[in-house]
Amino acid sequence: MFDVAIIGAGIIGGMTARELSRYQLKTVILEKCHDVAMGTTKANSAIVHAGFDAEPGTLKARLNVQGSEEMEQICQDLGVKYQRNGSLVIAYREEDLPMVQVLYERGLQNGVKNLAVLNQEELLALEPSLSDQALGALYAPTGAIVCPYELNIASVGNAMDNGTELMLDYQVTGIEVQEDGFLITGTGEPVKARFIVNAAGVYSDKIAEMVGDHSFTITPRKGQYMLLDHDCVGTIRHTLFNVPSKMGKGILVSPTVDNNLLLGPTAENQEDREDVSTTQEGLNMVQQNALKVVPKVNLRGVITAFAGLRAVGSTGDYILTSPVKGFWNAGGVESPGLSSAPAIASYLVEHMAEQGLVLEPKPDYNPYREALHAFNNMTIEEKNQVIRENPLYGHIVCRCETISEGEIVDAIHQNPPARDLDGVKRRTRAGMGRCQGGFCGPMVTEILAREWNIPLEEVTKFGGASYLNVGKTREVKDHE
Ligand SMILES: Cc1cc2nc3c(=O)[nH]c(=O)nc-3n(C[C@H](O)[C@H](O)[C@H](O)COP(=O)(O)OP(=O)(O)OC[C@H]3O[C@@H](n4cnc5c(N)ncnc54)[C@H](O)[C@@H]3O)c2cc1C
Repeated sequence: MFDVAIIGAGIIGGMTARELSRYQLKTVILEKCHDVAMGTTKANSAIVHAGFDAEPGTLKARLNVQGSEEMEQICQDLGVKYQRNGSLVIAYREEDLPMVQVLYERGLQNGVKNLAVLNQEELLALEPSLSDQALGALYAPTGAIVCPYELNIASVGNAMDNGTELMLDYQVTGIEVQEDGFLITGTGEPVKARFIVNAAGVYSDKIAEMVGDHSFTITPRKGQYMLLDHDCVGTIRHTLFNVPSKMGKGILVSPTVDNNLLLGPTAENQEDREDVSTTQEGLNMVQQNALKVVPKVNLRGVITAFAGLRAVGSTGDYILTSPVKGFWNAGGVESPGLSSAPAIASYLVEHMAEQGLVLEPKPDYNPYREALHAFNNMTIEEKNQVIRENPLYGHIVCRCETISEGEIVDAIHQNPPARDLDGVKRRTRAGMGRCQGGFCGPMVTEILAREWNIPLEEVTKFGGASYLNVGKTREVKDHE
């Protein structure tokens, strides 16, 4: 019997697991995919929002500001990249200027520190790459950027280092409410737990229905992006937003912590909870809007396009509710869910304690984790020393991002281990560069086969039947 079962290994499941791992509890994470960070947390704007956007008095507003304040320390502890680059919400039309003031007032009410309203001159002095059509902006110096999947992997990894169990390829299909807890059934052995956290993202309403809770629904809202290569960032330092609409924060332009430039997202409601395809129409819209913000952006530097799904809840706020004692929903966690994740995790753990979860601190709890990119950040002398001890670090596999075999092998053996090509990519950045894995993909596949001791044909791109090789050329030909 587990004390807590968390359904979903996104940032909410990961942060909640990490928070619980401080205590003497038996916790398991059940995740339907082949890896962690495979849902919304994989594909978003990567902004740690300052907290001026949400309506004062909502959970979104409170937990965003709290999460944003905690994020820098958490990233430091987990060895995750974090940059406080500040954000600007820019007005391009006279009629948008009142909204800048509204956001400023809202931010003050929400407790966001150091906000300022800038006029055109101040704005262009701060961010010279902007179009001179920009009339003024809200400046939030506490806005920041992170790598969302790196943070997700690190939070689950740290929870695992502290004793949390992770069951992958486990899709929850049923929950029976019992006298002493819950019986969870799915695509693995049944699991018994006294408490459940429903952190299933766009499926959180479906999981809630399994315990008879029909109080909310989720609408997936797609956001499409374009990612540009390192040399396109130019002088852009801040995250640049347009004044928001009721569909969201609009199309932004932002540097990433890995020194790429991100453009997007669109906001398109859909029924399908899996469809993360991009469309020409969507990408055209991203392009046109981005050009309005930074007219000189080099669109020839686009290296990939992708989309993510917001889990838009029917209540308009985060749905952190307990319809049955011991069962907690973390539903409707749309933006700023990444920024709020540490605060949502504390909120859930505190409320579970009120329902009888005993929080006895673990004496040997370790909040720290070695950075996934430690080798890359070393000085040349330090690198040489590491290479002398382990020559695999001297073998560069990904030339675009300069990633060595040593780092790939580390990622395969760390918690949670990289089990497929995309898993290596998210952990090390091998395959994230201009050639998108065209050069290093086959080598990473061989390393995966060797380290997992499986035939090459069994290595996948992202689990399931996404095999990368079907056999040796001659054998396949002879078979035909
Ligand atoms: C376009 C876009 C832009 C965004 N930008 C930002 C931003 O800049 N800043 C910010 O703070 N937030 C942003 N967000 C919001 C943020 O990404 C989300 O709030 C956050 O990632 C939600 O995390 P989660 O853990 O709830 O969901 P997910 O990451 O989706 O995790 C849910 C997990 O549950 C698993 N699961 C589902 N069903 C089952 C089942 N039956 N059994 C087992 N496992 C299951 C899924 O496989 C998945 O891994 C953005 C979102 C989008 C889509």
